[in-house]
Amino acid sequence: MTKKFVLAIDQGTTSSRAILFTHQGTIHSVGQLEHDQIFPQAGWVEHNADQIWNNVREVVGLALTRGNATYDDVAAVGITNQRETAVVWDKNTGKPVYNAIVWQDTRTQKIVDELGGDEGADRYKKLTGLPLATYFSGPKVKWILDNVDGAREAADKGDLLFGTTDSWVLWNMTGGPNGGVHVTDVTNASRTLLMNIETLQWDESMAEVMGIPMSMLPEIKSSSEVYGHGRKQGLVPGVPISGILGDQQAATFGQACFEVGTAKNTYGTGNFMLMNTGTEPIHSKNGLLTTVCYKIGDQPAVYALEGSIAVTGSLIQWLRDNLGLFEDAQDVEYLARKVDDNGGAYVVPAFSGLFAPYWRSDARGAIVGLTRYVNKNHIARAALESVAFQTREVVDAMNADSGVALTELKVDGGMVANELLMQFISDQLDVEVIRPEVAETTALGAAYAAGIAVGFWNGEDDVRNNWKEGKRWAPAEKQSERERQYRLWKKAVTKTFDWVD
Ligand code: ADP
Repeated sequence: MTKKFVLAIDQGTTSSRAILFTHQGTIHSVGQLEHDQIFPQAGWVEHNADQIWNNVREVVGLALTRGNATYDDVAAVGITNQRETAVVWDKNTGKPVYNAIVWQDTRTQKIVDELGGDEGADRYKKLTGLPLATYFSGPKVKWILDNVDGAREAADKGDLLFGTTDSWVLWNMTGGPNGGVHVTDVTNASRTLLMNIETLQWDESMAEVMGIPMSMLPEIKSSSEVYGHGRKQGLVPGVPISGILGDQQAATFGQACFEVGTAKNTYGTGNFMLMNTGTEPIHSKNGLLTTVCYKIGDQPAVYALEGSIAVTGSLIQWLRDNLGLFEDAQDVEYLARKVDDNGGAYVVPAFSGLFAPYWRSDARGAIVGLTRYVNKNHIARAALESVAFQTREVVDAMNADSGVALTELKVDGGMVANELLMQFISDQLDVEVIRPEVAETTALGAAYAAGIAVGFWNGEDDVRNNWKEGKRWAPAEKQSERERQYRLWKKAVTKTFDWVD
């Protein structure tokens, strides 16, 4: 085999990474750059799409240089991305007409309420698998068309394109205004509120309801097939780009969750648990989303139930950046270990409302149970505990929807370096928590999808065989204590409701 690597581009919420993976699924080299988080108003979160594209190019260059490799060594490129974040750009100039509106952004609340009308948030749930919420991309596109000067006219003329950041990166890599390929995969399309969850095609009536011209929408393809080839500006000229998976679906793939009932939870900016439910969509009765898990070439799509939690790692960033409690995210563990318990404090990080299982956009964050006794170490500990409590709420919903109790949880993402947190999670769930050897499962999943499409890997069996356990945590908390804490957490959550006029 002359080609030694598959390149994964992970266009995440806080940073963009490029990773060269070997045939064994190990990391050969990495390039990574953070991009700006832009907060123009309370509740608004934006990214500069041009900066993201420039960073992607730079990190690809870094990964190749550090790996002492050239594009000739690369068999294929896979893209994984922060999902739902919406970019609208002019197809003639390649310029975004507005900053990317990020998945955490809540500015579309009014649009979402209007779309629900008297029927409320579940109006299109059967059709799209999703509740109406500010989280999803369709309403963000509508906001741009309604609020950016000239955007609606340009869209009606057919000059504007919409994409999540996978499409944005792919279009630019394949030539931009000069023949760029305008495509997304089923997993990303399933997060827009514009796709029919059964047919896996854009639903014209949904596009019409939101006033989004069909000409703006990318073509929906599988997660693993050749979409196009790199052009010069993408640093990998001629290399097939052959895998796209939304970040959470990519992690599910990279964690080899191929059997019905297997699940993973990713601890990054937010928290996303996906359970493979097989080739039929299952509709949740407990606040979970129905989403596409992956689709390999022309094989049937595999679905997942998803429990999305908006704020976990970003709570740690907030303690660091807004409160100045520590300098580095990893220091939260040091602080939390200085005390034996949370001192009675509970942090409910409802910064973007509450996602699963509540879907309360009227919620805002709270710290409750405060006394003069509580210090910053307790707050640090309570922040980590909030991640475990939120995980438990989602696992309870999964268990109720699927009718079977989860027996172990595979985890990944930036926060799983935090060993105290891993113990909290195992304690709250009362199941073992397993971290794989390669914790970069998001990028790895995208690499596998791309590599399978070009025959670098043979299929799911290669992924299964490459997956290796790294470390495991077992429950160690007394049941009475675990339940007491969870009861108080539930009470704390109720204090966050009804905060938006
Ligand atoms: P994303 O892919 O969503 O950008 P990552 O998976 O890279 O996120 O994880 C980064 C997040 O993890 C950040 O929000 C950061 O605050 C948090 N984080 C990183 N290291 C730790 C740690 N040791 N303890 C707690 N949180 C951490």
